[in-house]
Amino acid sequence: GTLHAPVALGDRFAREMPEMALPWRAEDFPDRRLVVLNEPLAAELGLDPAFLRSEDGMRFLTGALDVDGATSVAQAYAGHQFGGYSPRLGDGRALLLGDVADADGRLRDIHLKGSGPTPFSRNGDGMAALGPMLREYVVSEAMHALGVPTTRSLAVVATGQKVYRETVLPGAVLARVASSHLRVGSFQYASARGDLELLRRLIDHALDRHHPELRQAENPALALLQAVLSAQASLIARWMHVGFVHGVMNTDNMTISGETIDYGPCAFVDAYDPAAVYSSIDLAGRYAYRNQPAMAGWNLARFAESLLPAIHDDREQGIALAQEALNTFVPQYSAAWTSGFLAKLGLRDDLDDGVAVPLLEDLLALMQGSRVDFTSFFRRLADAARGHREPAREIFIDLAGFDAWAERWLALAPDADAMDGVNPIYIPRNHLVEEALAAAGDGDLEPLTKLLDAVTRPHIERAGLERYAEPAPESFGRYRTFCGT
Ligand code: AMP
Ligand code: MG
Ligand code: MG
Repeated sequence: GTLHAPVALGDRFAREMPEMALPWRAEDFPDRRLVVLNEPLAAELGLDPAFLRSEDGMRFLTGALDVDGATSVAQAYAGHQFGGYSPRLGDGRALLLGDVADADGRLRDIHLKGSGPTPFSRNGDGMAALGPMLREYVVSEAMHALGVPTTRSLAVVATGQKVYRETVLPGAVLARVASSHLRVGSFQYASARGDLELLRRLIDHALDRHHPELRQAENPALALLQAVLSAQASLIARWMHVGFVHGVMNTDNMTISGETIDYGPCAFVDAYDPAAVYSSIDLAGRYAYRNQPAMAGWNLARFAESLLPAIHDDREQGIALAQEALNTFVPQYSAAWTSGFLAKLGLRDDLDDGVAVPLLEDLLALMQGSRVDFTSFFRRLADAARGHREPAREIFIDLAGFDAWAERWLALAPDADAMDGVNPIYIPRNHLVEEALAAAGDGDLEPLTKLLDAVTRPHIERAGLERYAEPAPESFGRYRTFCGT
């Protein structure tokens, strides 16, 4: 039935971009059961948690409730997956429910993952398993708490259905929230249609949502390219600062907003290794930790290509303008990288690059040499700034190397309290996430709740959470993540 209150949704994307929005209904899951609800986020969106917990609320969270003003749609997009182009990807197991204005008046999309097959499903079943949806919930909320722009997670609802993977798994729907679901692949799709009006309309739609002040720009397509380059330069630098490996940076998984999207095979670096790669299918290490800025640059070049017809009607001149914009990516990324790592070291970001960059690179080389745990090291280092060098020092193999580095760093008068404000204690460590998901699969939500509590206040040390601050035990072994579950 149609519900008039307490929720209304807008249909901005479906209305403005109908060529890319296929009206589609979620599958009905009569045995649905709420597993986790993000009450603070619900409040931010003006959604009543008591309603969301009700039978109708759970229907809403799985797309099975008719809502005034809204038509759920599967979004069409294209994308380069591991470098190979697919002209038609799209929401194969996801639906856009609609948009809501949040407490700050910003438009936010509510989107479902695992809501059943769509015409974009290809060989997939349209379903999602409970474990990976909870994983996305935990990791995206942790990223948000770490100050990294990201899609958010509103709820996970178990469907009561079986999902067939390598084993039989419980199914679930994730309700996810983003400032939009426009991807590089959305522009590739629009551009490939060869319809300049469609491409221009998509550009206007994106500018309205993310950079309304640029609507009046002399060259809106170029202005959008520049804005996305800046947002992504800053985002990828933030990933590097927290040791995040996205794992599947295909162009369909890169947003225009600069929010992290699509938590599939992602993981956090533990023992520092620039070559860290966790995804079982990323055999060549294309999306390894250290390659992330280069891969983002590659994706942004694909984005620029898709915008070319709108940047200039002369292709050569369009390429020249796009190239000039693309050339700003590396310097913007480098500046963000340096400034964020200086903050991790308690140093001001006006430090001369000639001092800052070698200081950072030498530290990272030492950390790599000793396979130092990335996250806990920076908290130990704050103690060194307070005069207790041993906790940081003892984890290095090259003690003389660390001492020599520490003298250089201490001479710059680092601010230990500032370090503790930016360096997290609690991140969703791979072994803790696996443990919480395994328990949740057996019906025990306690470890998940505790992990969420830890990672959503990541900088504040608390009693009882000691093991959440520690690296995985040796016995956990080498970590592997999987896509498409
Ligand atoms: P991803 O690797 O998660 O970014 O997904 C790439 C594409 O595969 C997207 O078009 C997804 O909608 C689609 N896809 C992933 N898993 C499934 C599934 N189980 N059923 C249908 N489509 C899927
Ligand atoms: Mg995706
Ligand atoms: Mg995915």
